[in-house]
Amino acid sequence: MCGIIGYIGEKNPVDILINGLKSLEYRGYDSAGIALKNNDQIEVIKSIGKIVNLEEKIKNMEVIPSNLGIAHTRWATHGKPSEKNAHPHTIGKITLVHNGIIENAEELREKLKKAGVTFNSETDTEVVAALINKYYEKNPVEAIDKALKEVKGSYALGILFQGDNDLYAVRKDSPLIVGLGKEENFIASDIAAIIDYTNKYILLEEGEIAHITKDKVEVTKDGKVVEKQVHETDLERAAKDKNGYDHYMLKEIMEEPVVLEKTFKPYLEQLDKLPDLTKYEEIHIVACGSAMYAGMIGKTLLEEYANTKVEIDVASEYRYKNIIYDRKTLVILISQSGETADTIAAMRKAKEHNVETLAIVNVKTSTIARESDEKIFIEAGPEIAVATTKAYILQVGIMALLAYKTALEKGLVKEEHKVLEEAEKLPRLIKEVLDRREEYQKIAKEIYTSEDIFFIGRKIDYATSMEGSLKLKEVSYIHSEAYQAGELKHGTISLIEDGMPVFAIVTDETIKDKTVSNIEEVKSRGAKTIIISNETWQNQKLQVVVPKISPYFQPILIVPTLQLIAYETAKLRGCDIDKPKNLAKSVTVE
Ligand code: GLU
Repeated sequence: MCGIIGYIGEKNPVDILINGLKSLEYRGYDSAGIALKNNDQIEVIKSIGKIVNLEEKIKNMEVIPSNLGIAHTRWATHGKPSEKNAHPHTIGKITLVHNGIIENAEELREKLKKAGVTFNSETDTEVVAALINKYYEKNPVEAIDKALKEVKGSYALGILFQGDNDLYAVRKDSPLIVGLGKEENFIASDIAAIIDYTNKYILLEEGEIAHITKDKVEVTKDGKVVEKQVHETDLERAAKDKNGYDHYMLKEIMEEPVVLEKTFKPYLEQLDKLPDLTKYEEIHIVACGSAMYAGMIGKTLLEEYANTKVEIDVASEYRYKNIIYDRKTLVILISQSGETADTIAAMRKAKEHNVETLAIVNVKTSTIARESDEKIFIEAGPEIAVATTKAYILQVGIMALLAYKTALEKGLVKEEHKVLEEAEKLPRLIKEVLDRREEYQKIAKEIYTSEDIFFIGRKIDYATSMEGSLKLKEVSYIHSEAYQAGELKHGTISLIEDGMPVFAIVTDETIKDKTVSNIEEVKSRGAKTIIISNETWQNQKLQVVVPKISPYFQPILIVPTLQLIAYETAKLRGCDIDKPKNLAKSVTVE
């Protein structure tokens, strides 16, 4: 959500900043802007819409020569997407870019207005600029420190000061790193933005202020210098390429077999590397979006096969609820980026109650990875398409292994489930499923003109339906809803009309007959049914049959078909598949 990049060095920063913003595009945005500084001359250029608009604008003008600049892609929270509201914002001697939300912005704005400050935009961001300006005499770090003591909310800030030729940065509850180059340094929302120039970086912790020159970075907190560890990323430049695919989403789906093998390897060699869930009387799974649906699969498996009590909630609710921690509880947090604001808050809530936390994350240096007691890393590599695909599959894979290990420790594993044997086969079987693209194209042709689509399933197949439905609406903008198959007739079935597509996911043997009756109910009301299953259906025109596998892993073969159907449908509808409108990749605001 929103991207920040800043540069200080010997070069002209325009290309570096624009390329950096492009690498952060996947995070989602609605406008972009850049500020270039040359001593006390500052030039700010902004544009709404895509970064190419900003690029075009810059090409058609003569910008000031400089070697210091900041740039931003905005995902509006306060004030509509417009050139006026786009960042950078300048007040007095301060020009800055901001990612996050200032919660007491209105209160501060009123106070500052009374003191004579004039604001130029509707953003919460400008208030921070005004506050820093108020405290700025000679020392930028001191001004930042004083101003932020009055600010409530989340922020990553890149700041320029008149009367000073350096770059400043600070963060709280929003991601920001400082990249270390040779005779040049950077700030960025994530390493992808600067990987073409350096693989070395430092992580700013909450409230730390970085004072950056071209050959030095000094980090302070509360006026004291903090020694920082230098990290090196193993992210390869090539990971940013589409590898010949039309879209990152497709590339990332096709990577599923390889990343699953990599993620499973250490645990299949030694299951003991996974945490022991039998120590806890209750498990809470907390996540947002697709990660939450991966959690739902985990909950079903833990309850069904490992007889373990599991509560699940979306992080934005969990963080504000009265959670009763009266039994020995483990809170499992699932987040691809590890920077999801609500999930971070849920984790901190558990920690405040001295409840242990386990994170399932992709980004190893992220806030959730750093702060959680225990962690399991999925090995998805960078995921650039906004709609998650491979990371979701790996989250489900880890939940399946955790459920299996728990069942094993409790002596509950059924021989016929052959879990480890089947886990070995999984990458090959996913590949088989992925290779059947014409089948998904055929189904996409059947549904892409529809306005409403339903997904139905029971138990684990319901959890899978949720993800199938979300993926379809995210990328194709078709309204779609997932229902527990038995629940449809309690109201929603009134919406079924002639020709309306209804996907039925049917893999769970124990409940299959009941779902079959529900399929008949919608069929007799005119629905066009599409069955996604692990067995062949007689007299069923539209169906996808995936190999039958241990029930622990069945969703891992079903969901790729739904991802590809969503992809093909979005393609037929001409959608911006990798960057769906209004969406952001890592949701760093609440
Ligand atoms: N809250 C700020 C705004 O609306 C920053 C949003 C962002 O993170 O892009 O301008």
